[in-house]
This record gives sequence, structure tokens and C-alpha cells, in this order.
Amino acid sequence: MLYTCPNCGAGMVYDADAHSLKCESCGNLYESAPETGQEDRPGASCSNCGAPIENAEKKITYFCPYCSSWMLLDSNIVHEGLSPQKILPPNSGKAKALEKIRTAFDGIAFMPDDFLYPENTSGIKGEYVPFFLYEVEAGGTMVFDCENTTSWDSGNTTYTKHDIYRATRTYQAKYVDVPIDASDRVEDRVIDRIAPFDRTDEREGLPKNILPGYEMSVFDKPPDSEEYDQRSGVWAKESAEDVVMDSVMHFDSVKLAQEQFSSKNTKSTYAFFPIYEYNYTYGSSTGDPEKDKKKQYTIYVNGTNDRVSGRVPISYFKLNLHFIIEAVCAVVGVAAIAGILRLL
Ligand SMILES: [Zn+2]
Ligand SMILES: [Zn+2]
Repeated sequence: MLYTCPNCGAGMVYDADAHSLKCESCGNLYESAPETGQEDRPGASCSNCGAPIENAEKKITYFCPYCSSWMLLDSNIVHEGLSPQKILPPNSGKAKALEKIRTAFDGIAFMPDDFLYPENTSGIKGEYVPFFLYEVEAGGTMVFDCENTTSWDSGNTTYTKHDIYRATRTYQAKYVDVPIDASDRVEDRVIDRIAPFDRTDEREGLPKNILPGYEMSVFDKPPDSEEYDQRSGVWAKESAEDVVMDSVMHFDSVKLAQEQFSSKNTKSTYAFFPIYEYNYTYGSSTGDPEKDKKKQYTIYVNGTNDRVSGRVPISYFKLNLHFIIEAVCAVVGVAAIAGILRLL
């Protein structure tokens, strides 16, 4: 179905700040998606202008670049027999996402002056990323070698006593809603860095009024795939280890000696969480072809809170200037370079 304004016929997008569908032409707001009666065209082409859709079988929402319309490809909502069960709308729009990036990278040394200037903001886009939320049953044993050391003086001699202990912890754990992103396109480590998502505004099913303006594709691998099984296992193992390690107390030193772990996924929920992606292309103009090569930088923002992850470019002009100033002042100032890595 096409998202068209009942008032003027122009396209509509979800406005996360107004919590409504908004007409991009007349500005009217709508709480629910109007029924247009238009269905997908068979053969995967735009239901407005007929232009072909690339990778149509994977897309749930689609923005046609030829006629600038957002549409829902109804026939892809159910994929491999699974329907989306939960979706989390973003709680703020693109402008706020850019503010979050500015705040996160504020004060980072050597950032180019035009990074995140208004003329570059066309590079930000919203996306609903597919997730499986797993119920995981886990169990394991961790064995620790522990030691307490006591020293005392007697006469001219210092004595040291080493008390050695072996601590064993066996546990059973059940985790619910372990979030594993099911998109091959977005790197897992990026999602891990901007997680967790604030799920207070989560909706059941797939309400049509919160979709346009956000790209959305189906999951890449099924919920019982080995890869997701392994990732949810790592998640459960790390969570269990944190708790178990905290339970081994009152020792001067604790070393993990042996570990055994197993887990299995008992249930999965198919869900979508919102992110923003900001793409920025930058190349210096130093005259050095290696430094001046244009590179693409991508920064991700969690659509439900302030979590940001990504890499920012280094302005070689600023870097050179910095080194000149430092040389004049005779101060070792390379510590500022660490600031570039702060959010990596
Ligand atoms: Zn309108
Ligand atoms: Zn079109």
C-alpha cells in the first residue's frame, strides 16, 4: 500500500516527534494509516509509478526514488511463515538523532569543521532492524583458584602466609528477550554497542502508521539458525559469568581455572527495533593522495535513547596544525589522539 495524504494526495512519513503520520506537503497529521485500497503490484514494482524495486523480496517498507513515495509491501510482511510480533517506534526524529551524534562526539580532537553541518544532514536515515528475542535456558560450572595473602613482621623477618582455596559455582539460568539482530547488513558489533533499546513504547504486531520513513527488511536467517543460536549462547554465557564472578568474594586474587557451559534457545519472538544511520564522506585536501582519498564514515544512533556508535573522520589539516602548535609550545600533546577512539 502507498502512504498518500487523504487531503492533498502527497506522500506521508511517520513523524516520531509528533507520534503521527505527517503529510510532507500540507503538513496534516494522521493517527492511523488511511486505507488506500492499493495493493502491491505483482512482480515487485512501485505501486505508484511502476518503477522496478531492487531486492523486492526482502523489503517490507520501500522508498521509491523515482516518484519519492513510501510504500508497504504487504506481501512480504509474512516471511518464511513468520509475522512480526513486536515493533518499537523511535521516540524522536532525525533532527534529534543528529543532536545526539553532536553531543556524543563533542570535543573530539581533529574532527573536520563541516562534520554534521546542516548541509550534511541529508545523510541520515531511519531503519527498523529485524531482531529475534530469544528465551535461553543456560547452565554451567565455574571453578576458581583463589588466594588470600597475609604478611607480618617478627624480629628482623617478614613472614607471608598464602591461603589457597578452590571455589566451585554451579548455576542454572533462564533469560528472556535476549536480543539478537537478524540483519546481515548492519554489523553485529555496532548493534551491540548501541543496545539496549528502551522498550517502554513497544507495540504488538506491525501497526501500519509507524512504518513509512523507515527502511525495513525481513530477517536474513531463520530463528533456529546456528549463527543466532551461537550468538544468544555467548550473550547468556557472558551474563551468567558476570553474576557468578561477583559471587566469589573476600579473596585477594581470583583466577578462573575451569569452565563448562551449555545453553539452548527455547522460544523466539520476531521484533523490529529502530536505529538511525548517518553517512558522511570525507577526504582531506593535503595533496597527499593517501590522506586525501575519500572514505565513507557511518555512525549509528539508537532510536529510543542517546546511545551512539561510530567513527568520525580526522581532519589532517587540524592534525598538522595541532602538531605545529605543540612543537612551538614544546608540549607532548598526542594524548588528544585518544579522543578519536573514544567511541570506537
Ligand atoms: Zn497533504
Ligand atoms: Zn515510484
